[in-house]
Amino acid sequence: GGALQFNDVDFAYDPERPILKGLNLSVPAGKKVAVVGPSGAGKSTIGRMLFRFYDIAGGSLTIDGQDVRDVTQATLHAAIGVVPQDTVLFNDTVRYNIAYGKDNATEQEIEAAAKKAQIHEFILSLPDGYDTQVGERGLKLSGGEKQRVGIARTLLKDPPILLLDEATSALDTQTERDILGALKAAGEGRTVITIAHRLSTISDADEIIVLQDGHVIERGTHDTLLAKG
Ligand code: ADP
Ligand code: ADP
Repeated sequence: GGALQFNDVDFAYDPERPILKGLNLSVPAGKKVAVVGPSGAGKSTIGRMLFRFYDIAGGSLTIDGQDVRDVTQATLHAAIGVVPQDTVLFNDTVRYNIAYGKDNATEQEIEAAAKKAQIHEFILSLPDGYDTQVGERGLKLSGGEKQRVGIARTLLKDPPILLLDEATSALDTQTERDILGALKAAGEGRTVITIAHRLSTISDADEIIVLQDGHVIERGTHDTLLAKG
């Protein structure tokens, strides 16, 4: 599962000011699409439509052929995992933060997710400083490490769809590069929507759309878009 279809989607927060104007985007199950474009173009709004934070004003939006309006919030949340720009963590261990929302996870599953996201060595650390093994002088997690915790949480949840909403935008270039492997691992076998403002941060997408003022102004692959400049 995990096919997404935006058909002529219109949306406005304020009726006087359309944000998405006839957006068409079709993502077959297991395919990877990236949405790039300047700040304010409407990229994050696409995620909000999927979660029905707001309802679309026109057109249709389906997941696996089903109108999102006919899908419960619980089902939507099970179907879509989000890695946002800043993963907000509870003041509890990394382990707790990874397992949060999945009460039935086994220790083995939690460890496997932590390993895959390469945050395993910090599993008993607290995000903001205290380490239950090392004591008060334990490590503080960096922004990149916090993102890895978010990635591990998503891996554990195992959703068919992954929404990376500016997941690396708050990181410096080197950290961004370091984390791309974990993001790629998280996307394996899933439908992935990557939202980014720079094309350079997209490495593996079957299709990239460039959004500007709520319109798709370009569509292509990394190579065809780079060739156009
Ligand atoms: P992007 O992710 O491409 O930066 P967004 O989808 O967040 O853009 O926002 C698109 C436009 O919608 C922006 O002009 C933004 O100011 C506006 N906007 C976003 N959220 C709201 C809101 N809750 N109410 C009104 N306007 C909003
Ligand atoms: P959960 O299943 O624990 O709710 P999700 O991965 O579904 O976890 O979502 C994490 C949180 O991010 C949820 O509260 C969700 O509503 C919120 N969220 C959904 N879409 C976005 C988005 N585009 N940007 C930021 N946060 C979002």
